[in-house]
Amino acid sequence: MKTLLMTLFFGVTSLSAYDYALKPVRVTSDVHCFFGKPEIMDKTNNGNIVNSCYIDAGEGYVVVDTGPSYAYARSAYKAMQKIKPLPVKLVINTHIHDDHWLGNNFFTEQGVRVLGSDDFKVNADMSVPTRMQTYISPEAYAKTKPAMPTEMIGTDTTLKIGNQTLELKIAKRKAHTAKDMVVYLPKSKVLIAADLVFNDRLPSVRGGDINGWLAALDDLDKLGAVHVVGGHGERTDKDAARMTREYFTQMRTEIRSAIEAGLGIEETMEKVTMDGYKKYKLYEGTHRHNVEASYRVLEWE
Ligand SMILES: [Zn+2]
Repeated sequence: MKTLLMTLFFGVTSLSAYDYALKPVRVTSDVHCFFGKPEIMDKTNNGNIVNSCYIDAGEGYVVVDTGPSYAYARSAYKAMQKIKPLPVKLVINTHIHDDHWLGNNFFTEQGVRVLGSDDFKVNADMSVPTRMQTYISPEAYAKTKPAMPTEMIGTDTTLKIGNQTLELKIAKRKAHTAKDMVVYLPKSKVLIAADLVFNDRLPSVRGGDINGWLAALDDLDKLGAVHVVGGHGERTDKDAARMTREYFTQMRTEIRSAIEAGLGIEETMEKVTMDGYKKYKLYEGTHRHNVEASYRVLEWE
C-alpha cells in the first residue's frame, strides 16, 4: 500500500511538473536547436525566449546553453532523447546572461561537466531571487538553482568529444558581454554564435560595446560557417548575422555623425530612431538603450 501511495504521489508530482513542450529543429544531421520566442520573459513564455542547441557527438550530446530554468533544460533533454537516446557528455555556457544558463543545475545534479568563460567568476549575477525568478511562473522556475560552470576558460580552446571537434572561441574584447563565447564545428560548418547574433528581434548592447561587437562579427565571418545559429531568432543560414551587423553599423554611423555635429546624448537618442527597425520585435524598450550605451562608447573615440 505504501509503495502504491508513493507511486501515486510521485506519479502525480511528475505529471504536474511544468513542461515547456519544446520542439527541436534540425539544423544539420548532427545539430538540433530549440528556438525561443522573440519576446521579453514573462509568465506566459516562462523564459522560453532564447535558443539552445544539442550537438550529436556520436557517443553523447554536447549541450550549448541550458535555457532559463531547470524545467526548460529537462524539457529539451527529454525531447532530444526521443530523437536519439544519448547521454549528455558536456554542457557549454556561452555567456553570463541568465536566460542562457539557469538550466545548468538540471545537468550538474547528474554530474555533467559545464564549461563557461571565466567571466562567470567576475560578472555573473548569482544573487537570489534571480531576475528570471521574478518574471516567470513559480511552476516553470521550480527546482532551478543558479549553478556556475564547473570549469572555466579564459582563452580559445579546441575540444575533442566523441566524433566532434569543437572550437570554442571567445570574442577578443567586450561585445554583447565582457566575454562572449561561440562554438564552431568544422566538420559540419555550424557556428553557434549565441548572443553575438540576433535576428527576428533587436539585439541589446546594454552592458556591451558596439565596436567590440562589430569586430567580433568580422572575426566570426572568417570561420566560413555555412549554418549560423544566433542566441535569439530562428534564422540559421550563413547570413543569419546580417540584421545584427546592419543594425549596429547604421547605428554607429548615425551616432558618430551626431557626435561630430555636437549633439549631446539626449538629443542623439531623440534623433537616431532608425525607423526601419521599428518593425522588429523589442524595438520599444531596446533601441533607445542601445543608442545610449553606444553613444557612451563612441563619444571617447
Ligand atoms: Zn545575452
